[in-house]
Amino acid sequence: MISHMRMFALLFLAAAPVHAQVAVPISVTGREEIALEQGATTPSHGINISFAYLNETGWSREEIRPAVAQLARILEQCGVTLKSAELVQVDAPARFRDFLTPISRQLAAALQLAKPTVYFVAGTRQSPAFDAEAIGRGNSRTRPELADTVWVTRGTRDLGIALAHELAHVLMDSGEHSGEPGNLMREDTAPGNTRLSAGQCAQLRGTGAANGLLKLP
Ligand SMILES: [Zn+2]
Repeated sequence: MISHMRMFALLFLAAAPVHAQVAVPISVTGREEIALEQGATTPSHGINISFAYLNETGWSREEIRPAVAQLARILEQCGVTLKSAELVQVDAPARFRDFLTPISRQLAAALQLAKPTVYFVAGTRQSPAFDAEAIGRGNSRTRPELADTVWVTRGTRDLGIALAHELAHVLMDSGEHSGEPGNLMREDTAPGNTRLSAGQCAQLRGTGAANGLLKLP
């Protein structure tokens, strides 16, 4: 009798994860608010950003947190304060761990995270293959789930600056680059390239607010 009961229990346990995997292949395994320091200047706008990282892609909260702090400092020059930064840990099957439009649309649709959202993934299967990619309103008409998202691969250098660069593309809803020395929107990110011009800041605030991504602080 006892051995029969144990056998039943083992079968039940073995069957449960398989069933769960079929029903919910994508799940949130952790959520935390990243603590942010308030800047010295009085901001005109605030932004809330979700940061999602996938398990088994090599990303960790320890690597993401300082990059988010750097992103916040860069946005401050435009009078934009990062009000909240939610870090979301996601478990998903291997096919979701690289950026690829038809697959990543499903991931975004399943998670329904507040936007703008930054996704930290392993790599990209897109062609051309960018280390990091921003999707605004203008380039998301055929893939609306991906509007106002940024996809960051493990190949991304200067992480905090790259985050700010891609988010600026989203907020400005523009793929435009700048040739100005030291500008954040130079085609290649580099440690010194963090500045935004008054005109870029105005566009970032105006378009970001019009698209509902920026709010009064
Ligand atoms: Zn760019």
